Amino acid sequence: LAALLWFRRDLRLGDHPALLAAAERASRVLALFVLDPALLRPAGAPRIAFLFRCLRALREQLGGRLLVVRGNPERVVPAVAAELGAASVHVTADHGPYGRARDDRVARELDRRGVALVRSGSPYAVPPGSVVAQDGRPHRLFTPFYRSWLRHGWPEPYESGPSTVDWLDHGDARDWPGGTRLPDDPDLAGVELPEAGETAALAAWAAFRDHRLAQYHDRRERPDLPGTSRLSAYLRFGCLHPRTVLADLGGWWERSPSARAFRAELAWREFYADVLWHRPDTARHNADARFDRMTYASGDEATERFAAWCDGRTGYPFVDAGMRQLLAEGWMHNRARMVVASFLTKDLHLPWWWGARHFMRHLVDADLAANQHAWQWVAGSGVDAAPYFRVFNPIRQGERFDPNGDYVRRYVPELRAIPGARVHRPWLFPGGPPGGYPMPIVDHPHERREALRRYSAVKR
Ligand code: FAD
Repeated sequence: LAALLWFRRDLRLGDHPALLAAAERASRVLALFVLDPALLRPAGAPRIAFLFRCLRALREQLGGRLLVVRGNPERVVPAVAAELGAASVHVTADHGPYGRARDDRVARELDRRGVALVRSGSPYAVPPGSVVAQDGRPHRLFTPFYRSWLRHGWPEPYESGPSTVDWLDHGDARDWPGGTRLPDDPDLAGVELPEAGETAALAAWAAFRDHRLAQYHDRRERPDLPGTSRLSAYLRFGCLHPRTVLADLGGWWERSPSARAFRAELAWREFYADVLWHRPDTARHNADARFDRMTYASGDEATERFAAWCDGRTGYPFVDAGMRQLLAEGWMHNRARMVVASFLTKDLHLPWWWGARHFMRHLVDADLAANQHAWQWVAGSGVDAAPYFRVFNPIRQGERFDPNGDYVRRYVPELRAIPGARVHRPWLFPGGPPGGYPMPIVDHPHERREALRRYSAVKR
C-alpha cells in the first residue's frame, strides 16, 4: 500500500504527526512538494531562496527521494496520487485562509477518486481554534488567550525521523504529472540568509537555548545585540516545531523570567494564528471596523515618503537601520519592526497594509497571521491593539534600545563617522548629516499631533 506525504509548512522529519500517520497507513510513502505559483508569486527572492534551500536539505535527509512538482495543487496532487495508486494523502493541517480553501478543494478532488486527504497536526503547539473563552467565544485579547493556552497544554514531541518510513524512490521527476527539478536559487543581490533546513534549525535552537536564552529577558529588546533566537524563519517553514522547543524548555520557565518571556513570544505566534482562524477577514481588513473611516496621506508626496521608508531614507536613523536590515537580511529585529511600523502609520499617515505588503515581500519569516496582526496592533486597528495614543518617538526609541548607536552604524554606513548615541541625531553633526544622509523627511512632534487628531476622529 502506498501513501503520499505532501510537505508544506512542515519541512522536517522529526516531531511530525502527518509523517507518522502516513507510516501507519502505508508500507511505502512518496514525499512530495508542490511549487504553487499562487504562493511563490508574492514572495521575494530571499524567502524563495530560503524555501529552496530547506527543500534541498529535506531532499538530502530523504536520500534524494523528494518529488517536486509545479502547478495548482488542486490538479497536481490528485494526479500524482492517482499515478502512485495512493490510498491516502497526508498533510499537516493549514489554518490560513488560502491553505484551508485549497485543502478543501484538494480533498474534494481526491474524494471523487476514493482517496482520503488526512490532516494531522498543525504548525502550532495548540491548533488554532482550540482555545476559547469560558463563554465558548474566541479570545480577543492576548493575555486571557495566553492563560487559556497554557491551561490547554500541548502534547510531547512526536517521535519520528528519516527512517520511520520506507520512502519511495520516484525515479525521474519528469515521469510524474507536473514533475520538475528544484530550481536554482533566485538572485539574492547580496542578501545574507541563515543556513536552511531541519538540522540547521535544531542547531540554532540548541545554541540559543544553551548560550543566550538565560539573557533573553534583558536583551530581547536590543537590536544591537544578538539577544533573540532568530528561529522565526525556521518556525515559518516548519523546519522546527514549537512543540520541540517548548518541551526542551521543560519546567525551566517556572524559575526563569527569560524562559517565561520566550514562551510568551511563542504564544503570540499562536494567538495571531487563532485570530486569523476565527476572523480570516482580518488578513486584509481592519479588525476594528471604526478604522475604515481613517483618512490617509495620498498623492505624490505619500508615494515619495513611502519609497523613502522602504529604502531606509527617512532621515530617522533607527527607522532607516531597521528598513535596511530588512533589505540586507530578510529579517528585522522586533523592536525595529514596531518602530518602523509606527513611523509608517503615525508619522507618515500611510495605510498599514502598504507596510504589511512590503514586509510580506521582503521577510523570510513572512507569515500572514503574525504580520498582518502585528501591523494592526501597531496601527491600532487590531483585535488586540496598542493604545492609539502610543506614538513611538523614533529618536528616543533609538537612544533607548540602541544606546551606543551600534545598530544604526551597522546598517547605515553613511553615519559611521558619528560615535556613540549621537548617531541618533545626525542633524546635530557639524555641517549637517555626513555621507549624504538625508535630513528628516517629516517633523516628528508635528506628525504626532496630526496622528492623534486623525485617530481621535476615528475613535469618536
Ligand atoms: P524571538 O524573540 O526569539 O521569538 C521567538 C519566536 O516567537 C519567534 O521566532 C516568532 O515565531 C515568535 N514571535 C515573537 N514575537 C512575535 C510576535 N509579536 N508575533 C508573532 N510571533 C512572535 N513574525 C513572524 O514570524 N512573521 C512575520 O511576518 C512578522 N511580522 C511582523 C510585523 C510587525 C510590524 C511586527 C511588529 C512584528 C512581526 N513579527 C513577525 C513578530 C516578530 O517581530 C518576529 O517574530 C521576531 O522578530 C522574529 O525574531 P526571533 O525569531 O529572533 O524572535
